[in-house]
Amino acid sequence: MNNRNHPDAGHYLSRAVTMAAENVANNGGPFGAVVVTADGRAFDGLNRVTESNDPTAHAEVTAIRAACSGLETFNLDGAVLYSSCEPCPMCLASALWARIDHVVFAADRYDAAAAGFDDAAFYDYFDTPVEQRSMPVRQMEPDGVVAVAPFDAWNENSTRVAY
Ligand SMILES: [Zn+2]
Repeated sequence: MNNRNHPDAGHYLSRAVTMAAENVANNGGPFGAVVVTADGRAFDGLNRVTESNDPTAHAEVTAIRAACSGLETFNLDGAVLYSSCEPCPMCLASALWARIDHVVFAADRYDAAAAGFDDAAFYDYFDTPVEQRSMPVRQMEPDGVVAVAPFDAWNENSTRVAY
């Protein structure tokens, strides 16, 4: 919260945008991101979806992974995520899981849509009633096991690391 108006915010956002543009010539999507941790360390992330055959290799996720690896933690409490473009729902959720403090972006989901990307469409997915969504998601009973067995195991594990 305390660095919401960080004096270097414009610098980091510019860095994300510059990396995004340069990534295009390096077999990447036009997206870049920087995670600046609470102690001021910066970790870059680039879109590597097509190069890595990894549909989750969005710039924001890549930056979060780099920051967590660099800090040897799964919690980026107090960090800021700067992204060249408004994070898609996956990246937004990744930031939530990482306990990112706040997110700053340059271009928005409609700019991405104009370039042929589905960010806006995926936001629409969540705004659509469950029964009308393009990708159905349903709950069912598994064969031979209890659905909540993993949670029972978790709760019975006294050495678990909560996250
Ligand atoms: Zn994303």
